[in-house]
Amino acid sequence: MTAPRTEPEDGLPTSVTVYEVGPRDGLQAETDVVPTDVKAELCRRLYVAGVRDLELTSFVPPTWIPQLTDAAEVAASVRIPDGARGVALVPNLRGLERARDAGIGEIAVVVSATEAFAHANLNTTKEGAVERAEDVVAEASGMPVRGYVSMAFGDPWEGEVDIDAVAATAARLYAAGCGTIALGDTIGVATPGLTARVVRETIAAGVPVEAVALHLHDTYGQALANVHAALRLGVSEFDAAVGGLGRCPYAKGATGNLATEALVWMLDGLGIETGIDVGAMAATTTWLSRMRGVRAPSNIATALAAAASKEES
Ligand code: MG
Repeated sequence: MTAPRTEPEDGLPTSVTVYEVGPRDGLQAETDVVPTDVKAELCRRLYVAGVRDLELTSFVPPTWIPQLTDAAEVAASVRIPDGARGVALVPNLRGLERARDAGIGEIAVVVSATEAFAHANLNTTKEGAVERAEDVVAEASGMPVRGYVSMAFGDPWEGEVDIDAVAATAARLYAAGCGTIALGDTIGVATPGLTARVVRETIAAGVPVEAVALHLHDTYGQALANVHAALRLGVSEFDAAVGGLGRCPYAKGATGNLATEALVWMLDGLGIETGIDVGAMAATTTWLSRMRGVRAPSNIATALAAAASKEES
């Protein structure tokens, strides 16, 4: 089988934005450093597979994340097709300046729902991260900005997070001018009821559903169930990484982001438009696995590769 049978379900969005984070969030969490030309070729293949919303890289200080020191080179070597987006994450004003110099026209900022993650990953407090993000949005003066709220469903140090605080933080980013707020299940601990509750409370705090996106990890195999719960609330933007790239640094051996081909397979089955060719996406996973010499945690890529080799023999 190379495609799911389509059977739409009443009450779901008819089209969904799949926001591809493999080259940035995926590769930054992998242990190997992928060469710049392979990253550029990955981005090219993702656009060819139909991705229109791509996070290319992150302009973090080079000492923070060795996997992404070539942000400017990647930005320079990727041609963004007409009608497509090429976004870069910027952690601070210096990152914004570097992104602008590299010709980036759209950025993402990140804050934390918890103090522990803010300290460990953003080198600041929770409040400090929000203020820094607000400064970046103000300085970006009209450039589209996406805002991430990390650890929005659970935190490895603090455990349960305060949902009111998540919703309030999301609403602050929205009020500051972020056009999309991506609620991040950074460690993959959300289940469908919790997902729905966090989404509902975020909407109640003042973020319209059209501006809500979900960034899900598949650590415990719950990501697609969580997508489905959010679809039923009208959420129509989901992050995913080709091949499920991006380990969870806090759960050794665990899988990473929701795999893009898994997300697209389910949406295809529901008759929801994404513009992405699931076969081309799985083939991109297989290609990248070969280039890196690492097997991807992707059911769909494995199944489609097996079907293809059966046909050949
Ligand atoms: Mg992630």
